[in-house]
Amino acid sequence: MVSIIPCDLHVHPDYSIDAGSSIKEYCVKARQIGLQTIGFSTHYDVNPARGAKDAFMVVDGEKTRVSDYTLERYIKDCREAQNLFPDLKILIGLEIDYFPGIETEVKRLRSDFSFDYFIGSVHCLDGIAMTSKNVVGDYLSSHSISEMADQYFELLFNVADCGLFDVIGHADYYLLPGLRYYGDDILNIHNDRLDRIVRAAIRTLTGFEINTSYLRKGGGDFYPRIEFLKTAIELGAKINSVGSDSHHTSHLGANINKSLNIIREYGIVFKPFYEND
Ligand SMILES: [Zn+2]
Ligand SMILES: [Zn+2]
Repeated sequence: MVSIIPCDLHVHPDYSIDAGSSIKEYCVKARQIGLQTIGFSTHYDVNPARGAKDAFMVVDGEKTRVSDYTLERYIKDCREAQNLFPDLKILIGLEIDYFPGIETEVKRLRSDFSFDYFIGSVHCLDGIAMTSKNVVGDYLSSHSISEMADQYFELLFNVADCGLFDVIGHADYYLLPGLRYYGDDILNIHNDRLDRIVRAAIRTLTGFEINTSYLRKGGGDFYPRIEFLKTAIELGAKINSVGSDSHHTSHLGANINKSLNIIREYGIVFKPFYEND
């Protein structure tokens, strides 16, 4: 018997330039694995500091500059899938790469489109993607650990403070490059920096995500790490999203139930953002 997976709310369909499965393929897979709610969160990366090199979506197999047209096509595809898969709850979201100044655009997206949710994620420092191994060293080797931490957490504060995002994506995204460059000291940088972020998140009703992709990559923990989460929870944070960060159907639902069981053991409550009081 297939066990039930309540939700996977961080899923990149092939509208994202780095993803390899279509919305319909994900829906078929969702049925097979017992997933009840799937939240699509295609990338929305328009940071001008990146020379807009990420600002593309794939529509009809063509790499296309992000525009209202690409967003409308994405939404339409999700809606069509909802009609084809009525037993599956489909949520339409975006994972927005946060940079200072994007707030105006997020306000416009909120008012002009009917998205169900927005994940705000910090991927870049000084326009350098923390996952691009080739160049992240340029940033990290020219910044002390406290300079890097201050800059990252300032961006994370903005995500929580602006009130435009429903979810803070993978809140310790700096972890892997940080471990490589700064060693274990990186594991503690959140301790004296989370307080004002959590206070802002409480005020704006923004929740934290549990992103299970670190487990998929053999990391033995999730993003953010359980120690980070425990600190955030003690300060009053809410966990309102869980997602696999799938870029292919083979990732869908991976480690979701395992993660929910682990946080339950720590007494951490998970209430997805789509469940209203
Ligand atoms: Zn992300
Ligand atoms: Zn993602």
